[in-house]
Amino acid sequence: MENTNLLAIAEEFGSPVYVYDSKKIVSQYERLTNAFKQVKHLKLNYAVKALSNIAILKLMNSLGAGLDTVSIQEVKLGIAAGVAPSNIIFTPNGVSLEEIEQVSSMGVQINIDNLSILEQFGTKHPNVPVCIRINPHVMAGGNSKISVGHIDSKFGISIHQIPHILRIVENTGMNINGIHMHTGSDILDVDVFLYASEILFETAKNFKNLDFIDFGSGFKVPYKEGDIETNIEEFGKKLTKRFNSFCKEYGKELILGFEPGKFLVSEAGYFLAKVNVVKQTTSTVFAGIDSGFNHLIRPMFYNSHHEIINVSNPKGRERFYSVVGYICETDTFATNRRISEITEGDVVAFKNAGAYCFSMASNYNSRFRPAEILWHNNKAHLIRKRETFEDLTKNQVDVDIFETVTEAAS
Ligand SMILES: *Cc1c(COP(=O)(O)O)cnc(C)c1O
Repeated sequence: MENTNLLAIAEEFGSPVYVYDSKKIVSQYERLTNAFKQVKHLKLNYAVKALSNIAILKLMNSLGAGLDTVSIQEVKLGIAAGVAPSNIIFTPNGVSLEEIEQVSSMGVQINIDNLSILEQFGTKHPNVPVCIRINPHVMAGGNSKISVGHIDSKFGISIHQIPHILRIVENTGMNINGIHMHTGSDILDVDVFLYASEILFETAKNFKNLDFIDFGSGFKVPYKEGDIETNIEEFGKKLTKRFNSFCKEYGKELILGFEPGKFLVSEAGYFLAKVNVVKQTTSTVFAGIDSGFNHLIRPMFYNSHHEIINVSNPKGRERFYSVVGYICETDTFATNRRISEITEGDVVAFKNAGAYCFSMASNYNSRFRPAEILWHNNKAHLIRKRETFEDLTKNQVDVDIFETVTEAAS
């Protein structure tokens, strides 16, 4: 997208506002499917939690993607977007048996990640095919907040518990149709991922009726110049070769599944905010914008780096800024960042704002959540209205139970 497009959107729809470029989503989807074109049955289930607007889910559906969901509400959003329940997989962690049963009764593929629920579900519904989430105990990334494969992780059933899984399967007579892993959000090293895949193949041999093996996600996209990016093409080549030979050994053409979130939508997103104030202190120039961690929490929560460009003055002389929000907390988006000269009223754009940005937004400080725009065929489509004051109050129950303190008689 051009700076002028972003500027025009901020002018038309106000700020702050999220913008998503459909073309980038489509090209990422195609890049991933191309990398695995030698696999007979490839299935990409888009991880809804990255960005859950119904228009985005419709776009994914039009591309042929299924959905990976973590709550019954995400399942319902997918169905509202027109996605067939059979095209949805439910991969929750720590949810109740009741919720899993409800989702299962909708015709959605269930993925179970603990022995207790596996036993209970299998006992009650031995005929429903179930996928099992394995924890291969491989750390695919360096950041402990986003690597979920380590030994103490709450995710998945440990590979050391395979004998227990097999006992439950045998006792209940349930049918395991898929094996799954998701080692976290940062595959830095293709070989580490291939190593984890070997563990998954080894596990898969224990189950005779598999339809698919789901390798989860964790594809890394660049957030700034020089960042490591998962080499999807190399990864595709290596895993395809190994997967195809495993299928031969297994005696069946299995489906190879992934559930990318960030890879598909991160780089398609821009978050636009307006600079309310430029404030000089003894050591720093602050650019204070009309937003905060209520709208974009990744920099504060994960220490994530998001590139910031001044779309009102892209060619201006560069200066150093700390970009901060308007929330009454320390809400620093960036420190000591080189940005073209900022004047109050300028619009700045945060890049990589497609994944885990709007979907993590809140109403903290009683601010409205932003509008969302889909840029499609060179046209801006409003896909979510900015909230209004009514949204802040509509679920609050007004009680009339307090007596006003009256002044003591003088
Ligand atoms: C969040 C999640 C994903 C998506 O991860 P990304 O890093 O955004 O690609 C995939 N699978 C599961 C089970 C998840 O919880």
